[in-house]
Amino acid sequence: MRILLIEDHTRLAGFIRKGLNAAQFDVDLAAKGSDALENFECVRYDVVILDLGLPDIEGLDLLDELRAKDPAIPVLILTSRVQLADKIQGLNAGADDYLTKPFAMEELIARLHALLRRPGAALGETLKIGNLELDVVAREARLAGSNQPVPLSRRELSVLEQLMRRGGKVAPKHLMEQSLYGAGEDLSSNSVEVLVHRVRKKLTDSGANATIHTVRGIGYLMTADEESPIGSS
Ligand code: CA
Repeated sequence: MRILLIEDHTRLAGFIRKGLNAAQFDVDLAAKGSDALENFECVRYDVVILDLGLPDIEGLDLLDELRAKDPAIPVLILTSRVQLADKIQGLNAGADDYLTKPFAMEELIARLHALLRRPGAALGETLKIGNLELDVVAREARLAGSNQPVPLSRRELSVLEQLMRRGGKVAPKHLMEQSLYGAGEDLSSNSVEVLVHRVRKKLTDSGANATIHTVRGIGYLMTADEESPIGSS
């Protein structure tokens, strides 16, 4: 499950991200509305957590823009505005749920699980390229017809998911870095390269007929190998 967390308060965002990671969610952080929209165009999210007080755009206007791009995306508003009028405004604007700060991490997680259980939420989604399948809920990659998972670490799986979600289009390296590492975390410049290298090797070793291509200076893209039969469905 991948969450877009839109929150400009760095420490709070880091705290939420940590808690959600511990609950097996992958979290992309955006501190500004413009970053959030850029992320939203490149990555398919299961749910959005939206702080209403952002530096560059009114939260409810951003909600409108997100809804215009994906009417079905579950959105949970997170804000310190406790007035009932704001709640009603947020829910009228198309938020699915509303949580006021301060809140308990457990409550946020419970509410996210409730949102994701709703009909229309992307549960049980499997991404496919060539004979490679990635169950994004079980967090497992395997070849079609095989029960043997490809042995990938959490970060390797995250790299693979980002590439497969792009469906043959380039995944920009800076967005992949953002997704993999929290703000302030030490990040050597070749971390994504190293992860991609490992994923490539493991896919080759497992017999996957999908290839990760490097697009110099931009990022990576993944395609099914032309010479191999592409998996049906
Ligand atoms: Ca804020």
